[in-house]
Amino acid sequence: MKLPSLDYTCPATLTEAIATLAAHDGAAKVIAGGQSLMPMLAFRLAAPKLLVDIGRLPDLNRIDISDDGIDLGALVTWRMIERDTRLARAHPLLAAAIAHVAHYQIRNRGTVGGSLAHADPAAEMPGIAVTCDAVLTIVGTNGTRIVPASTFFLGNLETVLDPDELIVSLRLPPWRRERRWGFAEFARRRGDFAMTGVAAYYDVDPQGNISDAHVGVIGVADRAVRLTDVEKALNGQRSGVELIRQVAELARGAVDPPDDIHAEGAYRRELVGVLLERVLASAGDIAMPEAA
Ligand code: FAD
Repeated sequence: MKLPSLDYTCPATLTEAIATLAAHDGAAKVIAGGQSLMPMLAFRLAAPKLLVDIGRLPDLNRIDISDDGIDLGALVTWRMIERDTRLARAHPLLAAAIAHVAHYQIRNRGTVGGSLAHADPAAEMPGIAVTCDAVLTIVGTNGTRIVPASTFFLGNLETVLDPDELIVSLRLPPWRRERRWGFAEFARRRGDFAMTGVAAYYDVDPQGNISDAHVGVIGVADRAVRLTDVEKALNGQRSGVELIRQVAELARGAVDPPDDIHAEGAYRRELVGVLLERVLASAGDIAMPEAA
């Protein structure tokens, strides 16, 4: 379908962008890479009167790595993450997950801020943000607020963003070099949205036991979710085949995905267990025996 008729503006500063959004009281919409918004417009799932193109705002396409963590500007694209060789060491889980996002053309345009604001429950970036306790910096007419990813997403395509607010950046906490981690997802074709995906990481204490386990899942609920019971069951234990099998079973029971046009909920639930086994086996360098 053709796009609806609408106006377009491309502000030069953040202040101008926010003032424009505020002046239109919900009738204006930010556009970044356009990779989610353009299809939404074409399908009439969004009908703004004005598009506010943030593509020229300065400083929003920076990737900063420091002892305090990793800051990804809202306009950082998937391609920039993929090309930044520092990130493979500074945050290997992020790099591994983003490698699964979409196809070549979309990766050149799609942005971190766009993905977070769009809030697709199967998207990788929100999944990593929730798994890693990331925080978002959001700016609007009432000033700046720092919002944890755990409270930013309200549901399928829903967030706490007000119509006059912009995501400016996402901060991931610092990554410990010796940390164990894994990411796996299943999609019908490479580049498609994941049917289900699992991200996990943990540290190993001096006794060789797991500590600070984080496990997040995408594609099973109306937003990315943490499997806190699985995290508790991992902490204090030594990784091995039995533990991995046990927590994979726990994970299957911890999710209740709905049926949809792509798969039955039961299929996705089984995927969560299978993918978590793979992720934890690769994180711990453990060879899992073939299932009987
Ligand atoms: P836009 O489309 O420009 O905007 C999306 C929404 O975010 C809009 O509501 C817009 O108003 C809002 N917005 C944008 N930037 C900001 C900001 N800074 N502050 C506040 N609001 C903002 N994504 C995945 O994660 N995994 C996939 O496997 C995947 N596969 C895809 C396959 C196809 C065929 C297509 C078309 C897309 C796919 N995507 C996938 C989505 C893609 O990654 C998008 O680029 C991304 O979700 C949105 O980023 P964008 O910059 O294009 O946002």
